[in-house]
Amino acid sequence: MISGNDLNRTSVLVVGAGPAGLAAAIQLKALKSNVDVVVIDKAPAAGNHNLSGAVLEPRWIHELLDAIDSEWRETDRAKKVLQNVVSHDDIKFMPCGKMTVSMLPIIKLAKLFRLNFGQMLHTDDYVVSISELTAWLNEMAEKAGVEVLHGFSAEDIIVDENGAATGVKLVDQGLDREGNKQQNYQPGEVIEADFFVLAEGCCGLLSEKFIEKAGLKRQSPQLYSVGIKELFSVSEQQFEEFTSGRVVHAMGWPIWRPVIGPNMFGGGIMYPGDKNHICVGMIVGADWKYCDFNPQDALTRFKEHKFVQKFIEGGTLAEAGAKMIPEGGWYAIPRDPQSNAVGKHNVMILGDSAGFVNMLKIKGLHNAIGSGIQAAEAIVDSFDNSNAAAGRYTELLEKCGIMAEMHSAANFRHSVARFGPLVGMPVSVLGGLLPRWNVEPDFEAMQQRKYVLNPGTDYDKDTFTAMAQTMHREEEPSHLSILDESICLDKCTPTFGRPCITFCPAGVYETIQDEVTPANPSNCVHCKTCQIKCPYDNIRWTVPEGGEGPRYGRM
Ligand code: SF4
Ligand code: SF4
Repeated sequence: MISGNDLNRTSVLVVGAGPAGLAAAIQLKALKSNVDVVVIDKAPAAGNHNLSGAVLEPRWIHELLDAIDSEWRETDRAKKVLQNVVSHDDIKFMPCGKMTVSMLPIIKLAKLFRLNFGQMLHTDDYVVSISELTAWLNEMAEKAGVEVLHGFSAEDIIVDENGAATGVKLVDQGLDREGNKQQNYQPGEVIEADFFVLAEGCCGLLSEKFIEKAGLKRQSPQLYSVGIKELFSVSEQQFEEFTSGRVVHAMGWPIWRPVIGPNMFGGGIMYPGDKNHICVGMIVGADWKYCDFNPQDALTRFKEHKFVQKFIEGGTLAEAGAKMIPEGGWYAIPRDPQSNAVGKHNVMILGDSAGFVNMLKIKGLHNAIGSGIQAAEAIVDSFDNSNAAAGRYTELLEKCGIMAEMHSAANFRHSVARFGPLVGMPVSVLGGLLPRWNVEPDFEAMQQRKYVLNPGTDYDKDTFTAMAQTMHREEEPSHLSILDESICLDKCTPTFGRPCITFCPAGVYETIQDEVTPANPSNCVHCKTCQIKCPYDNIRWTVPEGGEGPRYGRM
């Protein structure tokens, strides 16, 4: 069963060295130390492509760490990565740019009466930098004997006629912009394996290809949000006043002002970072209707709010980035129609790639790690029959409580998508009594409406990309393509005014000689907003050569 040292063949191939993929690799080694496990990742180094809030429930990370090192709590790394523990849940409604109203008593009441909104509390969770957490897990995986290969971009998964995977094809290296082979050209190799673990994060390229090739189905389209995050170095006094145990989740200003509009789901966040650092972010449901809207402008307005401003005024921007979050929840989990498995045969889909984000908690990191643990156990249970792995993985997801948690939040985001935040949130309290609403994919939501209350603030996208430290080889083929340029000119320009130019956080799209084009692909931060939000579904994002993109270190 266990493969030899053939470089193009391994027993278990994990695509994506994020928390889900690394948890699977670490747990596998803890269960069976002689199994060959290879993890590939497109990022230049561990944690570089991982961005999240992030609040982390302790259960699964503790289980994973306990499995490999009973002394982990005493290590310097654990004391640093897990230094911030939530002691002050701060949930606010911001009716305007000056006022705040605490929602905490209502949420506490909901918890008391066991209503689903009670899940919004975060007390005793960790607040982490997911980049740092990933780098730590990466070290543990390598120490356990896992081969983690950074700078390896995978562009395709090869599937046989029965829907089982046989290999993963890496991206060709050394092509010029037109696709001609250069002197350093290297064709992308195929890595074969017995088991495939797809843990690429949100909207993973291979995960989505596998879902299509193997005929997996979602009950409802995946819904997304866009998260923009900035890390500020602030004064000691500001940090002490904020405290290292506080997490702020704020609804309202500037994206949702009930009745008078605008009317978008999401809100601002403030989390503690390392000493004297505070993260500020804006998360906006990608079903926004406003064709001139840029989530970065909403973040600027959030930072101008009286409550937020006092903690970051005079601070220095230390890092910035963006990513999508899969929010469709239970109804958007991709499953095999025959077996109901989250994957098929020898392929398992994990974490954000499967959509294991609980939007009531605004958290998915715990389920990413938890799903990695279940995938490892499923592989060990299926050594005699690799095609049983996806079914076993799904049984374990049900047994361990991840599926029950996802089900408990099934109707929250869907109700908001169907009725808007004002009606959808209270309706969702009925939870399991509600039917599954029909919701449209995010790209269909755009209208000819303007975000009039908060016109553009000219967010500095150049500084943003510099702070994300993103880079790509200028001469390689663009990893972004517009499928039909006539749609841009004939339909999108007169109707919506080319929104990709506005909403791409990195300023990748421009009008050149009257045509819209991804003129600056080297600025891309791999957030995939353009693929999800182009109102004509006219953009495709693929992986560039390995080792490129953002270089997040503390996101
Ligand atoms: Fe519009 Fe999409 Fe074309 Fe951009 S790529 S101009 S959003 S149709
Ligand atoms: Fe994100 Fe697309 Fe812009 Fe890249 S080009 S930064 S994926 S919106």
